[in-house]
Amino acid sequence: MITTTTSRQLFARAITSIPGGVNSPVRAFKSVGADPLFISKASGSRIIDADGNEFIDYVGSWGPMILGHCHPQVVAAVKNAVEKGSSFGAPTELEIILAEMVIKAVPSIEMVRMVSSGTEATMSAIRLARGYTGKDKIIKFSGCYHGHADSLLVKAGSGAATFGVPDSPGVPGDFAKHTLTARFNDLASVRQLVSQNKDQVACIIVEPIAGNMGTVPPREGFLEGLRSICTEEGIILIFDEVMTGFRVAYGGAQELFGVTPDMTTLGKIIGGGLPVGAFGGKKEIMEKLSPAGGIYQAGTLSGNPLAMTAGIETLRLLQQKDFYTQLEEKSQLLAGGILTAAKAAGCPLYGTRVGSMFCAFFGTEEVHDWDSAAKCNTAAFAKYFRAMLEEGIYLAPSQFETAFMSAAHTLPEIERTIDAARKSFKSL
Ligand code: PMP
Repeated sequence: MITTTTSRQLFARAITSIPGGVNSPVRAFKSVGADPLFISKASGSRIIDADGNEFIDYVGSWGPMILGHCHPQVVAAVKNAVEKGSSFGAPTELEIILAEMVIKAVPSIEMVRMVSSGTEATMSAIRLARGYTGKDKIIKFSGCYHGHADSLLVKAGSGAATFGVPDSPGVPGDFAKHTLTARFNDLASVRQLVSQNKDQVACIIVEPIAGNMGTVPPREGFLEGLRSICTEEGIILIFDEVMTGFRVAYGGAQELFGVTPDMTTLGKIIGGGLPVGAFGGKKEIMEKLSPAGGIYQAGTLSGNPLAMTAGIETLRLLQQKDFYTQLEEKSQLLAGGILTAAKAAGCPLYGTRVGSMFCAFFGTEEVHDWDSAAKCNTAAFAKYFRAMLEEGIYLAPSQFETAFMSAAHTLPEIERTIDAARKSFKSL
């Protein structure tokens, strides 16, 4: 058994001053029947807790750490930047550099605005879509998570799904009524909502690869179908690429699948581990944003120089030759190895993977939407999670999350992870 005395002491202390002891719900490890580990540091593929336990990390801060923790070039750039000042609340060249890099990487983005989180990005993109179209309703998908803004906390994935509170108290019914929910991978459910709400829908927001109900890839034709519906009906198509942007390809899921949204939201990787979000799209839409236009959006720390620096340096490193191919090869090896280990142990597992995002669902049925994801055996997942932790493998503490590979993970570490999975499946 790993020793967790210090983490337990810190947790006992934290719950008296921080609700639930954590600053974001899933971190509490509640759904996997464990106490959270308090982290003291991380490097490359490894994360080290307050008791000195070292784990191979497949959470990667929930996505941003695609290069691994503390990449020396990112660290050096941020150290250099902080010496010059950590926040000015005034424009800097760094913001232009990152904006230009994003625009070059994602052709559907003609202009972009930086914010400080994915939540702000989606919330602002929706306000802009509403302001631009003059319509109030939005369509989202059951099990997709777009941050915790009021109108998006309806049938949401990630922590909201893990804790079984898809509709949070505190969200006024008057807000939630404008949010219509369709089924992921089900175009008929979208068409029905669109025809029932003719000329009232401002936008459809979707995770092009769902990553917050576990990893659920889009079926062939799904994203293309959304594109056609939006074009025909004058609805703005928003790809929430907070997780997939710069993750599944340099140009995100839209590059991978060749489908062009009107607007895109970004976060995680473009901040290189510092707090960042961004939303962008067609110039015609983006220019409606204040102060160019009348739709308001602002932020004290937006375009923060440290975050911009970490993002710029990260994006530069992602441009290395074969970066995404190598990441995908390692992910394929690990995800495949885990499935083989489960099969050998007679443990029913359904695996999904797109690039370096992957998930092992505890069940045998195909998972293609929230209803099928929700059928998984979360109790078996919880046991697996705890067994893997004992083996030195740090996974996201919920069945409804995505695992991430980083460039820092090595082949021996992947072998070690598969070995750990083999032992864990046998112990279930
Ligand atoms: N959209 C997606 C697709 C996400 O995965 C997340 C966070 N996991 C968000 C939005 C919200 O981002 P943040 O936590 O930075 O507010």
